[in-house]
Amino acid sequence: MKIFLDGAFVNKDDAKISVFDHGLLYGDGIFEGIRVYRKCIYRLEEHLERLWYSAKDILLNIPMTPEEMSEAICESCRVNGITDGYIRLLVTRGKGDLGLSPASCPRASVIIIADTIRLYPEEHYNVGLSIVTVPTRRSGPAALNPAIKSLNYLNNILAKMEAAQHGALEAIMLNDQGYVAECTGDNIFIIHKGKLYTPDVSNGALRGITRSAVIELAEKADIPVKECNLTRHEIWNADECFLTGTAAELIPVVKLDGRVIGTGKPGPLTQKLHAAFHEEVSTRGQML
Ligand code: PMP
Repeated sequence: MKIFLDGAFVNKDDAKISVFDHGLLYGDGIFEGIRVYRKCIYRLEEHLERLWYSAKDILLNIPMTPEEMSEAICESCRVNGITDGYIRLLVTRGKGDLGLSPASCPRASVIIIADTIRLYPEEHYNVGLSIVTVPTRRSGPAALNPAIKSLNYLNNILAKMEAAQHGALEAIMLNDQGYVAECTGDNIFIIHKGKLYTPDVSNGALRGITRSAVIELAEKADIPVKECNLTRHEIWNADECFLTGTAAELIPVVKLDGRVIGTGKPGPLTQKLHAAFHEEVSTRGQML
């Protein structure tokens, strides 16, 4: 496997960064997870736009243009023979001195890993996930804004560990007000009486690329969509529930906190949107 590291392709075992990189020392950096389907990079422009937005938020100068980044991503897939896979793109603050200030880091580092991924076991796509709400809250926009896709995922990692302690593969994180924000690595949707609901991003949800795709697909299918405040009450009493994410794609949820959601089986609108999503990923994207 070849890794793109600061402008060159290097072997996996030689792909090393400095122990003084602030990405390692402080989680100071940003990333994207991107999918390739049948030699097409899915919604690449949107991923790059979000990356540049995150960079702006943390005053990080990405040392490449979006066009150069796009080409480096395509080339990473080509040199590794990836036609269906997952790309992890990182921009770290780069090498600097000890001490938080990024002023000692003259140049950001860019890393691109083109690989494959399977987030959840296949059976869960058919039978649905059973998830829990965990005590760790999603950080609010006044702290570390969840809209920034930063390398600092400890908040979500703690929640993921709490989920595992309860035997669940994913967890709902509430925000400080007690509204549902999102899951540790996925956005959440419910269907109630034929309408699709998802937490508004101001509740602490990442503006997920898959989330946007599902909203567009629902609108095309004349399913009304509402972005709003949701509490656990709405999720427990929903007809259907599912999660979205680049790695997860679209996965049904059939139980939350010991309450069965709907019939306890993946529902018809979830299946319809899942099918529409699969249709879309095979027809939309930037060719390698
Ligand atoms: N929320 C969080 C916290 C995430 O890490 C992710 C996945 N990166 C998502 C939501 C889903 O976003 P996307 O559809 O862009 O992968």
